[in-house]
Order: sequence, then structure tokens, then C-alpha cells
Amino acid sequence: MFDKIQHLTPIISHEEILPSIYLLLVEAPQITSIAKPGQFVMLSCSERILRRPLSIHRVDKKGNLSLLYSVIGKGTEWLSQKKKGEQLDILGPLGNAFFLQSQAKNLLLVAGRVGIAPLLFLADVALERGNSVTLMLGATTASQLYPENLLPGKITFLTYTEDGSPANTTIATQKGRVTDYVALYAPSSDQIFSCGPTGMYQSLKNSLESVKYKKSVQVSLEVRMGCGLGSCYGCSISTDKGMKKVCQDGPVFELSSIRPGEIKI
Ligand SMILES: Cc1cc2nc3c(=O)[nH]c(=O)nc-3n(C[C@H](O)[C@H](O)[C@H](O)COP(=O)(O)OP(=O)(O)OC[C@H]3O[C@@H](n4cnc5c(N)ncnc54)[C@H](O)[C@@H]3O)c2cc1C
Repeated sequence: MFDKIQHLTPIISHEEILPSIYLLLVEAPQITSIAKPGQFVMLSCSERILRRPLSIHRVDKKGNLSLLYSVIGKGTEWLSQKKKGEQLDILGPLGNAFFLQSQAKNLLLVAGRVGIAPLLFLADVALERGNSVTLMLGATTASQLYPENLLPGKITFLTYTEDGSPANTTIATQKGRVTDYVALYAPSSDQIFSCGPTGMYQSLKNSLESVKYKKSVQVSLEVRMGCGLGSCYGCSISTDKGMKKVCQDGPVFELSSIRPGEIKI
């Protein structure tokens, strides 16, 4: 049925890198050869439930695809039990991608916890293009922050924790929410990209309005999704151009195009 996009992919490695957050590497050259930052895959997590969407975290030149996910329910719990050598049934790549403007030089990436997933693929591509990349990552506490040693070397990495706990990073962690600090870095950025819980985008919008930021701000929407292929309309959202399907028209949208009700806290 999905002959062009369905792939059986062997697991190369699978590790719990942070409490309840896993880094999964599968061999998927058919996907990595065409994938773009911002796109996602639909993973079969047993035959009893619908496939689950996960962003493409990174790709490498050997054809390996990595996914970064948080265990929150039955699908991701099932996935977390899978071991090296087992095969996963994956559909992808799906959805649209982040759009990097050719004239953009300084990029600001704003991530909420596991929302860093699609942004690192983007960072890898942008750094290869010669862009300067600042990544702001926020979490409730330091144990949830992505390890600095897994990041590409040339990135500027800024961390924020709500409880003020410090991460083991080169630049000291600040206390508060990541969106509390965005206004400090936005004015020197040519484009902003963000991924995190949907409610974070309202705070992001407020912070950017406070500094009258008028350039492109693209966000990846991690809403509940049904089929992931545009058939069920389960992930439709309201935008200034009418109803859009997150799985096909997104998951990446200009923040200004999303109706406020979709990103309320
Ligand atoms: C395009 C896209 C990309 C995504 N990329 C990633 C990623 O890279 N890493 C990652 O960890 N997650 C990502 N997600 C979210 C991920 O798909 C869900 O966490 C996953 O489907 C949960 O499945 P589950 O069976 O474990 O939980 P379920 O048993 O389905 O749900 C457990 C609980 O979590 C709630 N829930 C589940 N999914 C969501 C959601 N998307 N938003 C709000 N509440 C939810 C449910 O209502 C329920 O209360 C992405 C989602 C989308 C749409």
C-alpha cells in the first residue's frame, strides 16, 4: 500500500540518553537520501495502535537515521523496549520542511526539551552551509537537557532550566523558561526556528512581539496525529489561510500564520 515510503529498518543502536528520553539509530538510506530538516516519520509501534509520528532528528552519510523521543504512553513505551538488530516499520519522510532563506546568516533555534529533535538536523545543514547557529534549549530541570557532547562542534549552546539547576555545559545555565530569554537574542537573528510543546509558541510569540521581531519564525507543530498521510484530517489546525493538515501542509508553519487558539497555553 505504501510501497514507496514504507521501509523495514534495522536498529543500529538504541540508548536511554536522559531519563525516559531515547536516542534511536536505524539504517534507512531510502529515507536519509531524500529527507529534509523538519520532516518526520510515522513509526509502527505494534499492530494494535496507530503509527506514531517522530521528527527526523539527524541523518548521516552512511544512511543512518536518528530519532529522539520521550516515553509518554503506550507507543513510545513499546518502542523503548526494541533492541539492536530488531527491525522497525517506518513510513517516511513525511511532511514539509524548514525553509532556510538563502540570505539568512545568523540562525536562532529555540527548543523545549525533546523539541530539540528536528532542530539538530536543521543545525547540521545550516552549519554545513556556513551559517552561524545559536541553540537555546529549555527544560524543567537540568537532567532533561540534551547532552552538549552530542551537538555539532560549532554551535552556540544556551540552556535554561525552570528550577535553576545547572547543566554541565560550556556556557552557564540560566534560570527560567527559554522563552523568557528569546528577546535577548532575536534582534541579531535573521531567522528563528522552534520546536517544543504547543503552548510554548504563545510565549515565544509574546517575547518576539516585545522586541518587534518581523522576520521569519518557523515552528514545528507536535499535535496529536491520526494517519500522518492526509486522509483522516485528525491533525487539522486553523491558520490565516484556512484549515491546514499538520501532517501534509506542516508540520512546519510560520508562527504568524497560526490562529491563536491553536497555540494557547
Ligand atoms: C510531526 C510530529 C513530530 C513529532 N516528533 C517527536 C519527536 O521527535 N520526539 C518525541 O518525543 N515526540 C514527538 N512527537 C510527539 C509524539 O508523536 C508523541 O509523543 C507520541 O505519538 C506519543 O505516543 P504514545 O503512544 O507513546 O502516547 P499516547 O499513549 O498516545 O499518549 C499518552 C498521553 O500523551 C498525550 N499525547 C500524546 N501525543 C501527544 C502530542 N503530540 N501532543 C500532546 N499530547 C500528546 C495523550 O493525549 C495522552 O494523554 C511528534 C509529533 C508530531 C505530530
